[in-house]
Amino acid sequence: MAFEFATASRIVFGEGAQREVAPAAKQWGRRALIVTGRDTARADHLHSALPAQGVGCSAFATGGEPTVDLVRRGVEYARAEQCDLVVAQGGGSAIDAGKAIAGLLTNAGCLLDYLEVVGSGKPLANPGAPFIAVPTTAGTGSEVTRNAVLGVPERHVKVSLRSPLLLARLAVVDPELTLGVSPATTARTGLDALTQLIEAYVSSRANPLTDGFCTEGIVRAARSLRPACEDGTNLAARRDMSLAALLSGLALANAGLGVVHGFAGPLGGRFPAPHGAICAAILPNGMEVNLRALRARAPSSIALNRYEHIGRLLTGRPGATAEDGITWVRDTCRALGIPPLSSYGIDETDVPTLIAEGAQASSMKGNPLALASEELREVLLRSLAGA
Ligand SMILES: [Zn+2]
Repeated sequence: MAFEFATASRIVFGEGAQREVAPAAKQWGRRALIVTGRDTARADHLHSALPAQGVGCSAFATGGEPTVDLVRRGVEYARAEQCDLVVAQGGGSAIDAGKAIAGLLTNAGCLLDYLEVVGSGKPLANPGAPFIAVPTTAGTGSEVTRNAVLGVPERHVKVSLRSPLLLARLAVVDPELTLGVSPATTARTGLDALTQLIEAYVSSRANPLTDGFCTEGIVRAARSLRPACEDGTNLAARRDMSLAALLSGLALANAGLGVVHGFAGPLGGRFPAPHGAICAAILPNGMEVNLRALRARAPSSIALNRYEHIGRLLTGRPGATAEDGITWVRDTCRALGIPPLSSYGIDETDVPTLIAEGAQASSMKGNPLALASEELREVLLRSLAGA
């Protein structure tokens, strides 16, 4: 057994943890670029807390999932404002944008030099500017991962800027920040976290550290996803979901993912569908096709025991099977109103391209076994029709 584990230098979790941001920022810089999503008001407290510590602020808002252009503009703005650290407070999109901006602020050349797939994939030479990540949704776990997912609209793809030098200096996970998230966003971000936990647990690169994170996270997400959607003020449920998302980030960054995320990249690049909604629509079908393929071609794979374990963890029943786990996921997606992929304008004619791109995606490499093209097709066709 051999593995490596890397994450943010420091993680602070708990209600009120956001108070840690300003004192930490003071140690690392004089002027912060504050990156937020569309709703800039959610970071208002930073605009008073940082100056109170003698740290200046410049605000930069992202609208939706970040693109290469947005990051370029962010870097230019941060340089013009002489920012020497980056604080991103928002959903996964704001955190990925902030992470990429912090990484490029200290590296010469253009973003394309460092991008996989569409660029030359050169490694970042210098550590990024100090980066503090403060998630306000419970989903991507991006606060502890080493990649930022960026859209390249003219090429219809999403690619990652990836480097251990992108890991946050501080991740502040404060469940109170998620109290105002709408039921629909809670559902799809929560299902993204659950997908990441399940995919990392059955991943061919799973290790004993990520296994512990995955099982703990699956139990918490299973018991608290629906309660958090039904009553957004339920702090215990929000705490579980924030922790599940954090655990999913710790796991995926070190164990990889699988077929669901393998398709989520190309789909997200081509269609205006939220990442979490794509993952949720594919998850039960990816689990089912994987399970059948494992039984047929890799009957001694440890992933089979893990799918059985997932069934027990999701349902809470000691006698539950892998199929019971899949049924639980399907029922949960239905109850939370997850639409089929066809509702985003995706249809059968897109399937061949998506299979070709998905098969090349870096996330596909963690799938517990290589799926045949026919199996990939089945996953997609069933996800078009709905859970
Ligand atoms: Zn995801």
